[in-house]
Amino acid sequence: MEVIVTDTEVPMKLKCCPFCGGLNIDVRENRTNNTPRMDGKRWPIFTVQIDHHCARGVDVNGNYPVLASAIHIRGRDHKSAEAAWNKRTT
Ligand SMILES: [Zn+2]
Repeated sequence: MEVIVTDTEVPMKLKCCPFCGGLNIDVRENRTNNTPRMDGKRWPIFTVQIDHHCARGVDVNGNYPVLASAIHIRGRDHKSAEAAWNKRTT
């Protein structure tokens, strides 16, 4: 299973989470500046961050949520973040 992220500047193909199989993966493009530019273009991206939080489990009594795993990956660009994530999941 994998998810194609298309709302990024460069589409990314990400494998599902190795722990929970989840595909709720957030990609954040960190830009040098978040304010709009006069020319309407966007500021350059300096890191691409991939965040995922595993679905929360319950303890043996079915009560309290067990602290779920989370994966945070950061790359210089889309390709390196994607590669780091997919390497982590194999
Ligand atoms: Zn997960």
